[in-house]
Amino acid sequence: MSELRYDPIRKSWVIIAAERSLRPSDHLRSGPVHEHGPTGSCPFCPGNEKSTPPETYALRKPETLPDTPGWQIRVVPNKFPALDQSVPLQRSNNGLYDVTSGFGVHEVLVETPDADRQMDTLSLRHLGDVFIALRGRIEALKMDRRLHYIMAFKNYGREAGASLFHSHSQIIGIPVIPNLISAELASFREHFRAVKSCLMCDIISQEAADIRRIVAESKEFISFVPYSSGLPFEVRIAPKAHSHDFVSATDTVLRSFARIVRETLRRLKKVLDDPPYNFVLHTSPPAHDRAGKPGFWKSIEQDYHWYLELVPRTTMIAGFEWGTGFYINTTRPEDAAALLRSVDI
Ligand SMILES: [Zn+2]
Ligand SMILES: [Zn+2]
Repeated sequence: MSELRYDPIRKSWVIIAAERSLRPSDHLRSGPVHEHGPTGSCPFCPGNEKSTPPETYALRKPETLPDTPGWQIRVVPNKFPALDQSVPLQRSNNGLYDVTSGFGVHEVLVETPDADRQMDTLSLRHLGDVFIALRGRIEALKMDRRLHYIMAFKNYGREAGASLFHSHSQIIGIPVIPNLISAELASFREHFRAVKSCLMCDIISQEAADIRRIVAESKEFISFVPYSSGLPFEVRIAPKAHSHDFVSATDTVLRSFARIVRETLRRLKKVLDDPPYNFVLHTSPPAHDRAGKPGFWKSIEQDYHWYLELVPRTTMIAGFEWGTGFYINTTRPEDAAALLRSVDI
């Protein structure tokens, strides 16, 4: 049984999930990094639907049954979940240490039935459907008031934490707001209170005027290397029109999002020779009332702005980074953006 333990020194939660040491990746440490392997043993390949827990969503041909082939996108609970929705949410403490039961949600979004495709080689129509499916799952999970944050992310390549090569992303819903997210929400809120505008909208205006860090741009989105990127070739993709919540994006917006995400991934792949990477979706938490904090979310619709973070994992996080939270980035963000813009894709 997993649990969330609180570190009173760092003021941060950790998920202790010893059961996850049984997942397939742990037996494959020395295996290939960028290879699918035989389809018969892949739980995400069509025909192997019974080797995952029953699906919670699928985009599939109408005449086909759940948990059988015929799907284009499939969402299933993680077979080796870090957290479990059937565990009662219980908080307690153990001397100095707060602990919360391992309640939460951990789902896998299988992006394609095709073992040979990855996010950057899906058709635009299909990738748009992937983001529409993701929106649907986040929207559904937001209904569970016990979940305080829902994080969608992708690990591509073993160095980025992927345990299976078949193209997929993951959704984790947790009963607390993580520190990094709390700090980010506070930055947006403070900026809004000080100058009455959204921090990301203001960053987008500055990046659009400067242009040196822009990777790609469309009518609806901007893709840019952050001014103070911690890791080389880190990219953020944000909608140009202010919007606090990925769930509120229309189908049209998400199809446009698919276009710029795919273009950015292709540029990263070309420049960095198919790097392992993570993507992390930053979006508004469910704005449920907070005990003792009336009006806590009052300005979230105006102050927060959703975006996607894409982080190629070309360097190791070493002692200095671990000890300080500072990063030493060996590539100037302006040079990274220029390189990414320059390649033909
Ligand atoms: Zn597969
Ligand atoms: Zn904004």
